[in-house]
Amino acid sequence: MKKRDSGEACIVCEEKKMKGIHLYTKFICEECEKKIISTSTTDPQYSEYVKKLKGIRTPPLYS
Ligand SMILES: [Zn+2]
Repeated sequence: MKKRDSGEACIVCEEKKMKGIHLYTKFICEECEKKIISTSTTDPQYSEYVKKLKGIRTPPLYS
């Protein structure tokens, strides 16, 4: 087992992380999860997160 290769790519920061949560087929690392939780919904950064998260549930089948 290689330590470097373990982990999954986070959809928010796009880095491979070991700890995190799975949301449907996607992965969000622990750090980003915390960031999202602690970010105010009025913060512009929050809508960036939401945009990425929305991509999970809306595959580009329709335009
Ligand atoms: Zn992340």
